[in-house]
Amino acid sequence: MQIKRIEAFPLRYPEPNDNHHLRYITLVRLETDSGLVGWGECIAQWPEAALAVKVIVDRGFAPILLGRDPQETEVLWHLMKEQSWWYGEGGIASLALSAIDVALWDLRGKAQGLPLYRLLGGKTHARLRACASTHPNKATIPALAQELAGYAQQGYTALKVGFGKRGEAHLGEDPKRDIAFVQATREAIGDDVDFMVDVGHKIRWDVAHAIRMTREFERFHIRWIEEPLRRDDYEGYLRLRNAIQTPIATGEQEWTVAAYQRLIRSGIADIIMVDPGRAEGITGFLKVIHLTAQAHQFFNAHTWSSAINTAASLHLTAAAPHYIVMELKPIPNPMQHELVTQPIMQQHGWIDIPEGPGLGIEVDEKVVRKYLFE
Ligand SMILES: [Mg+2]
Repeated sequence: MQIKRIEAFPLRYPEPNDNHHLRYITLVRLETDSGLVGWGECIAQWPEAALAVKVIVDRGFAPILLGRDPQETEVLWHLMKEQSWWYGEGGIASLALSAIDVALWDLRGKAQGLPLYRLLGGKTHARLRACASTHPNKATIPALAQELAGYAQQGYTALKVGFGKRGEAHLGEDPKRDIAFVQATREAIGDDVDFMVDVGHKIRWDVAHAIRMTREFERFHIRWIEEPLRRDDYEGYLRLRNAIQTPIATGEQEWTVAAYQRLIRSGIADIIMVDPGRAEGITGFLKVIHLTAQAHQFFNAHTWSSAINTAASLHLTAAAPHYIVMELKPIPNPMQHELVTQPIMQQHGWIDIPEGPGLGIEVDEKVVRKYLFE
């Protein structure tokens, strides 16, 4: 079996879960000489990054992958890292590598007629617990709490709220209001729903403020506090971790296995966030899962993009014992509900693992063309 064709598709789409702002990803389509097709995705996020990924795929990785057996995922992962050693190890090269690696694993499963989780050693979990991962967009605290309670009523048993997001919510900006928001939300969703606060890139907290806010939030039993400090502020994180009881989640901004190893060894976090569309694909994600297991830490997929990324995360998470929740965007959206013929949904708070070969999803190429941009 040989890779015959490699194509990259930069896409632009409006995201209802992000106040209808435009978001950007790059998909990769691989085709073999026997006609099998595999799909992968990276979370480019910005138009220039989505376009730059296409250049790396077309000019850098396609020439070294064409004619190779797509089932040699580990070999090809190292080949791509070797090709990009000078300009890579993070950034655009890691995005491009991630998208191709996901497509290679999709093909590997299809070649064997097996769902991806079977290639990873089987399902530790028959289904995964769904978390509504939200950027709520209401102007008042009662309206925000009501929106979140609505997701709990849909069956979600975990809710994550991003602070510092676009729209009317203005969370993370006013300490008193943030505390009132967390209290109102806890009262609205009840005691049995896990509630996570994701502080987000646009909010700048220092250590003292992160300690103060997390201690305030602790009164309302938040499940974890996510990225309250800059990604490289290890000293700040250690001070924070020693001052609070709430678990700390971070890691979604890392790219490489080496960086994850440093993060895990540093002991600054309880939950390591990993995105297959950024952190060197399924191959990279798997290596991080093993590192977290050795360190007795939890991992959690950071997956807030297309159904390709969600499917890859589902299989990876189902195959490992130590996850917490599986994130979904709760409002129907183009990349989850239009891109694939059978969208991945939660039912009564749970998500089933796709049983088809490879990622177990079918991409509608008309939809790929609809959202293509140059
Ligand atoms: Mg986050």
